[in-house]
Amino acid sequence: MPSLNGLARATILAAAQNRATKAFMNRFGMRLGASRFVSGETLDRCVAAIRTLNEQGFKCNATLLGEAVSSAADADRAVAEYETLIRRLVAENLRCNVAIKLTLMGLDQGEDLAETNMAKLLTLSSELGMTMRIDMEDSVHVEATLRIYRQLRARGFDNVGAVLQSCLRRSVGDLEALLPLDPNLRLVKGAYLESREVAFTDKAEVDANYLRMMEMSLGGAGYTAIATHDERMIEHAIAYTTERQVARDRFEFQMLYGIRPQLQRDLLKKNFTVLVATCYGTHWYPFFMRRLAERPANVLFLARNLVRR
Ligand SMILES: Cc1cc2nc3c(=O)[nH]c(=O)nc-3n(C[C@H](O)[C@H](O)[C@H](O)COP(=O)(O)OP(=O)(O)OC[C@H]3O[C@@H](n4cnc5c(N)ncnc54)[C@H](O)[C@@H]3O)c2cc1C
Repeated sequence: MPSLNGLARATILAAAQNRATKAFMNRFGMRLGASRFVSGETLDRCVAAIRTLNEQGFKCNATLLGEAVSSAADADRAVAEYETLIRRLVAENLRCNVAIKLTLMGLDQGEDLAETNMAKLLTLSSELGMTMRIDMEDSVHVEATLRIYRQLRARGFDNVGAVLQSCLRRSVGDLEALLPLDPNLRLVKGAYLESREVAFTDKAEVDANYLRMMEMSLGGAGYTAIATHDERMIEHAIAYTTERQVARDRFEFQMLYGIRPQLQRDLLKKNFTVLVATCYGTHWYPFFMRRLAERPANVLFLARNLVRR
């Protein structure tokens, strides 16, 4: 039986598809709260936020908001924007890599197209000494995303990482299959609305699977990005890596811009590597709705801003 929070999460994610909600949020959302999670609508704003975070000691990644383009031409435009982003981060000497969604690279138009676009960006970023990570989207895209990740690795791109979601029943198997590649993996719980056929619906199961995958990944020879704001997961990671003497250059913590900043600072003070994931752009709607769904109390924060307007 799903918890009250689980029901609220499913309701928010379902409401996000509603046209009236979209129209309202696109008009007022940035002022109502999206700006808490999005570093800005322009690259300049994002660069300024990253510089400040770097000065505080955080590593960052940058994501151009946007997903599910509707044509190859739109994917081309996204590639060009990512090229600008990569060149700018390097020119500004920022400690920042880049994360990207394959549906923005044209995955829905064709796997070959998305792979070709990714290879283009990876060639540029490898010349400039930068790594890129392919975000994981909803379960419908997992198989193709992992296939493309494997193909890129087989083509010799070592500067690419992937993401696995502990909410999915398949993920432990996916992790086992990836470990021989010594992958650079980000582990997350999963932000999408999924059916019980493919995903655990009970939070306790998602959390237990997260711990299991974290131990499996840290036990391998790759690099593990522990991307969560959950103190229980983080404390377990610290205890496990201390006990097993996993070197600190083999893992890092990652959190989203604007979420639990005190916890981010506390980990930094303990000399862990902490990456703050920043995003920018005008297509912030689906990203913002996923942040609301992760913590339904965020809707109260939005409602308070609505009353104050
Ligand atoms: C760096 C990074 C990259 C990510 N990349 C992906 C990806 O590629 N694919 C994907 O499916 N998901 C991704 N996610 C999202 C992830 O799947 C979860 O939805 C999200 O991190 C919330 O889960 P949690 O691990 O923080 O734990 P939860 O159990 O959901 O939350 C633990 C605690 O964290 C705080 N918290 C969590 N979320 C919020 C929020 N939105 N607002 C305020 N407080 C919050 C609350 O205090 C909460 O009690 C990413 C997350 C991070 C941090």
